[in-house]
Amino acid sequence: MTTPTGRAGAIAAIVGRTPAESTVNFADESPKSVFGSNTFSLSVMKETLKPDTFQSLLKTIQSGHKLSEEVADEVADAMRIWAVSKGATHYAHVFYPLTGATAEKHDSFYENTATGEAISKFKGKVLVQGEPDASSFPNGGIRATHRARGYTAWDATSPAYLLEGVNGNTLCIPTSFVSWTGETLDTKTPLLKSMQVLDKQARRILALFGHKEIAHVSATAGPEQEYFLVDKHFFYSRPDLQAAGRTLFGAQPPKGQEFEDHYFGVIPERVLAFMCEVDRELYKLGIPSKTRHNEVAPGQFEIAPLFEFANVASDHQQLVMTVLKKVADRHGLVCLLHEKPFAGVNGSGKHVNWSLGNATQGNLLDPGDTPHENAQFLVFAGAVIRAVDKYAGLLRAVIATASNDHRLGANEAPPAIISVYLGDQLGDVFEQIKGGGATSSRSRGVLHIGVDVLPNLPKDAGDRNRTSPFAFTGNRFEFRAVGSSQAIGTALAALNTILTDSLDYVAGKLEGAPDLNAAIQSVLKEIMDQHGRVIFNGNGYSQEWHAEAAKRGLLNLKTTAEALPQMLEPHVSEVFEKYGVLSHEELHSRYEIVAEQYIKQVNVEARVGEEIAQTQIFPVAAHYAAELAAGAAKLKAAGVAAPTATLHKVAGLVADLEAHISQLQEVHGAAQEIGDWTYKVLPALLSLRKTVDALETVVPNDVWPLPTYQEMLFIR
Ligand code: ADP
Ligand code: MG
Repeated sequence: MTTPTGRAGAIAAIVGRTPAESTVNFADESPKSVFGSNTFSLSVMKETLKPDTFQSLLKTIQSGHKLSEEVADEVADAMRIWAVSKGATHYAHVFYPLTGATAEKHDSFYENTATGEAISKFKGKVLVQGEPDASSFPNGGIRATHRARGYTAWDATSPAYLLEGVNGNTLCIPTSFVSWTGETLDTKTPLLKSMQVLDKQARRILALFGHKEIAHVSATAGPEQEYFLVDKHFFYSRPDLQAAGRTLFGAQPPKGQEFEDHYFGVIPERVLAFMCEVDRELYKLGIPSKTRHNEVAPGQFEIAPLFEFANVASDHQQLVMTVLKKVADRHGLVCLLHEKPFAGVNGSGKHVNWSLGNATQGNLLDPGDTPHENAQFLVFAGAVIRAVDKYAGLLRAVIATASNDHRLGANEAPPAIISVYLGDQLGDVFEQIKGGGATSSRSRGVLHIGVDVLPNLPKDAGDRNRTSPFAFTGNRFEFRAVGSSQAIGTALAALNTILTDSLDYVAGKLEGAPDLNAAIQSVLKEIMDQHGRVIFNGNGYSQEWHAEAAKRGLLNLKTTAEALPQMLEPHVSEVFEKYGVLSHEELHSRYEIVAEQYIKQVNVEARVGEEIAQTQIFPVAAHYAAELAAGAAKLKAAGVAAPTATLHKVAGLVADLEAHISQLQEVHGAAQEIGDWTYKVLPALLSLRKTVDALETVVPNDVWPLPTYQEMLFIR
């Protein structure tokens, strides 16, 4: 027998682990004093800036006004003083390249004077514009490698914050990232552009309803983040988790999620300690972390902040991912953001709750109690329906990644078919509109629990539908198909842009109409006639829905290879260009980048799969086969009938293993097009997995090199 691998040691270390010392005590330090303590917030600005400067900055933040140089200079100075007083030595322009990651380049505040002293300096010019070398960030062929210049530009609408490190703090400034030739190279810039055009069209609609005062309209977003936690010891014994973010092998554990005892269960002590620290770190950054709970799969959890303006929510979401990983590490855990780290149990999504609203009219997707009478709401909701149907392909494309493919299209939430769930009440109102006019709203009703000490509960107007990729949830839509590891900026920019297009279209129909009400009814009916097919309130997992969706002509694009080309459809390209969100060239470059990322990801999976199978699984399996054979020979020589069933099974699997490894190597070596990776490499990897997983169930447990599903999902 080979010596036991790290597995037993990992378990021993976990069992004998001393819990992380508490660093969070909300009794000593109230959440109120912690909240936003590391952000250059509006209140800090108000305190530190001249009233005039503060007012003009406020105009930029709240209504998107341009910022002057003098204002920038004063803000920079105030920011520096604030940051230095809190221990910062450096500042960083933080940007969001198209890899979906967060990038930052740090520079010191300090310069030396002629007399050799250090002074801290931070000019408006430096706050407003930075110049990182852009050559190593993906640009999808938008510029030649020798033209490396890229600029970062301060986004004043997203608060600057202090990032604490063990040996020093850094002032972080959220920025847009563009090339020297002006093309956008990030996820933030298109989002900001899409918010700007959405505001314009939304206000056009509001004006039609006779509002006298109409404030700046903003898209809002509240992303729910699902994630897994595994013990660090296991993580570092799994090269696949490290390199690919998911387990490429692993037999199903005797107990999975079938008891459904994890969902909303009591949060394990160690995890709760982690969560409390995450919340505290987020509070410091001014991120309104709100909800935490166990998710469906064992080892899976969720965190959701309160919604914010979409661009701020998007930056904060990036920070949430960073903080989750960082704090997990302090607790001896690893936070997995991959969409499907474990086969056979639920994957992780990022439900992006999305709406739009302003200070004067409130949330524009709030139906009130009687939606059929709320024409303004119906216009906005109708515009969403039209947008989602017309650009379903785009919505599918912006959530297409190698990792999300394992979730979408599989028999799990949500399907790859983009449809809209409206719920009973709203679904009924739109059906009435289609039939000629809406005259009633089903009442929400009251839920009588039947126990006298319990109150009656007012019911929501619609039930929840976990199977829908895009669901109306009472006063917002929830784009549930977004992947857990994705940056949400791209999906939000797409949603804002297609809604802008719809609002523009509807406003065009309504403006100048002699009878506004009749015109609204007519345009909504037309929307229902042309786009009502996208509405589906049933079970999205069912086979019938797949058949029905096909009949309705809805797209069902199961893989990135199928979905991605939707980004280049002429109507998609046109809508981005028309509203100035992305040029044809920028969109095309994004397509190239996603395709490239996909191929890189599958390539890594194939490599690490081959390596594990060859260098970790084959040796123990072949060794065990030889051991069984030797044992059988000895028994036979002693004149005893030797059991050979296991020997034959193992020997057969070892032969299969060799065959599958070489088959994977072969298709992997030959793969070129994205389709080869999807339809040849991934299936070969899956065949290899089947053999490895079968071996896991026969090879002696003490020599199996990889931590098992049972261990990773249940031991912490
Ligand atoms: P669920 O019950 O769907 O799991 P959660 O309470 O976990 O919902 O999360 C719902 C998210 O939706 C929160 O982030 C919440 O702030 C957000 N949300 C609520 N209203 C809006 C809105 N008007 N626009 C965008 N997001 C919203
Ligand atoms: Mg939730």
